[in-house]
Amino acid sequence: MDVEKVFHMTGGDGVTSYAKNSSFQKKASDMVKHITTETIQELFVSTTPKSIGIADLGCSSGPNTLTIIKDIVRAVERTSSTLMLHQPPEFRVYLNDLPTNDFNSIFKTLPEFYRELRKEKSGVCPSIFIGGYAGSFYGRLFPNNCLHFVYSSYSLHWLSRVPPALYDEQGRSINKGHVYISECSPPQVSQAYYKQFQEDFMLFLGSRSEELIVGGRMVLILLGRGGPDHVDRGNSFFWELLSRSFANLISKGELEVEKLDTYDVHFYAPSKNEIEDEVRKEGSFELDRLEMFEIERDEKDEESYGAAVARTVRAIQESMISDHFGPRILDNLFEIYGRMVDEEMAKEEIKPLTFVIVLRKV
Ligand code: SAH
Repeated sequence: MDVEKVFHMTGGDGVTSYAKNSSFQKKASDMVKHITTETIQELFVSTTPKSIGIADLGCSSGPNTLTIIKDIVRAVERTSSTLMLHQPPEFRVYLNDLPTNDFNSIFKTLPEFYRELRKEKSGVCPSIFIGGYAGSFYGRLFPNNCLHFVYSSYSLHWLSRVPPALYDEQGRSINKGHVYISECSPPQVSQAYYKQFQEDFMLFLGSRSEELIVGGRMVLILLGRGGPDHVDRGNSFFWELLSRSFANLISKGELEVEKLDTYDVHFYAPSKNEIEDEVRKEGSFELDRLEMFEIERDEKDEESYGAAVARTVRAIQESMISDHFGPRILDNLFEIYGRMVDEEMAKEEIKPLTFVIVLRKV
């Protein structure tokens, strides 16, 4: 499956859209917002550019991207006024995602975004120029040295492709019955995923190092795991439950076994050491910060946690599942999935881990 042609978060603003089902991602980004704003403020103090280049990589189609851009702009304006500069810099904002992303949904909200910026500053809008940049961040996106700050939230755990080594020469899966690394997976499966992560993350760092000025910063938020084990009751368990939901449809005769065998997700939850190793090997960045956190659960605002997780996972996986299995199975699949999440949560918490990483170009 060609990820770049198929993969996208569910567009628009309907009930199953990413825009309406990305509150987990919003919560995570909010929890570390102080790190994002402190980092850009530090960068601004040390470089005081007249024109500041900011990129959001994997911006998707929901409200999260412009929300964080607003926070970033405000943070720079505050610092600029503390430094008693004549005026804040001009902002060049590059919103990036894969070409299949629903960029139009973001563009449609721009007038409202500018209105809000003006309202808060008694009618004066900061000098801000926003554009969409379609392409994979596993490769070059921008001209040399045009960026000061790169932000990327909940995007870098997506690999550039399903690791090819998951299939033998005859195209048969070595990870039958599972969509990600599971307890039953042979070691070659986690090796294939890890190798793809190394290749991709290296390419990501190398590309950004050309685009960022020396002293430029990156704040990267991505899913990960707590130790060397690939199988845990965190991110990998959510994929395991998806595999079990597919298996449930197979047992009812609603899906063919072969279909599941040839489906794998292009996702990887790295560990702290794996991230540090790639940063060190690539050599263009200093790791200023690497922290792990769990998203706090708001018990009161959800009718069923499982249903909320199911809607979130559907908004991010629907394009791929639909392409491979056909759209017919979606409703059933995610109903089963939501139920399984609730059943498992009743037994024991599932705790997905998130990393926030701050890198400085040296
Ligand atoms: N940053 C947003 C969206 C996260 S969803 C938020 O925090 O809510 C992840 C996004 O990353 C998706 O829109 C997906 O299309 C994008 N993405 C995944 N792989 C990518 C790649 N190689 N290049 C650019 N964008 C990518």
